[in-house]
Amino acid sequence: MIGVVALQGAVSEHMRTLTGLGAEVRRVTRPEHLAGLTGLVLPGGESTAMVRLAAGTGLFPALTDAARAGLPVLGTCAGLILLAREVEDGAALEGFARVPVLDITARRNAYGAQRESFTARVALRSRSAPGTDPDDGPDAPDREIDAVFIRAPQVTRVGPGVEVLAAHAGCPVLVRQGAVMAAAFHPELTADPAVHRLFLTAAAAQPVH
Ligand code: GLN
Repeated sequence: MIGVVALQGAVSEHMRTLTGLGAEVRRVTRPEHLAGLTGLVLPGGESTAMVRLAAGTGLFPALTDAARAGLPVLGTCAGLILLAREVEDGAALEGFARVPVLDITARRNAYGAQRESFTARVALRSRSAPGTDPDDGPDAPDREIDAVFIRAPQVTRVGPGVEVLAAHAGCPVLVRQGAVMAAAFHPELTADPAVHRLFLTAAAAQPVH
């Protein structure tokens, strides 16, 4: 069972992509909804709105504990901001609980305003963790995916334990640290479910939380 945090943002798009890959999905708004999950998605939307909606529910502290205990988490766009250990231009997030389990620094809105949104082809290095993707033999080529950037955050620092699975214009746009993955773009808005498949393959290898 994969949870999708359903406070705000692109919730139904993630649920549809996950369901299309055969996953069972559940909306998550409270700590008790985390029980029994094998993975969890933090969607894109607006991080400043999400932290306010989550305030007082205990959801993000509980999710932080769960992620530290090994629950696989995929964060996209605003979800990446919530997962980042450090946020630049994060004054509007100060004083609110996040889920800062990923050793990166994110800069909010670094690619510009909504009207400067764009799509780019990026190469997905799904082979970097051998054996996590059954399609990837040692000689499999990187596959290209369309990445949709909407007021996207930029990853300005990655810690030593963080793998860069895709980059655009010299910046990491898909990163992974252990069972935690984050994309600066919106993989739920394109037809190719490659990022979700990569996440589900990793999640399937973890014990039920
Ligand atoms: N700019 C938004 C934020 O700061 C993220 C945008 C998105 O998720 N598409 O949360």
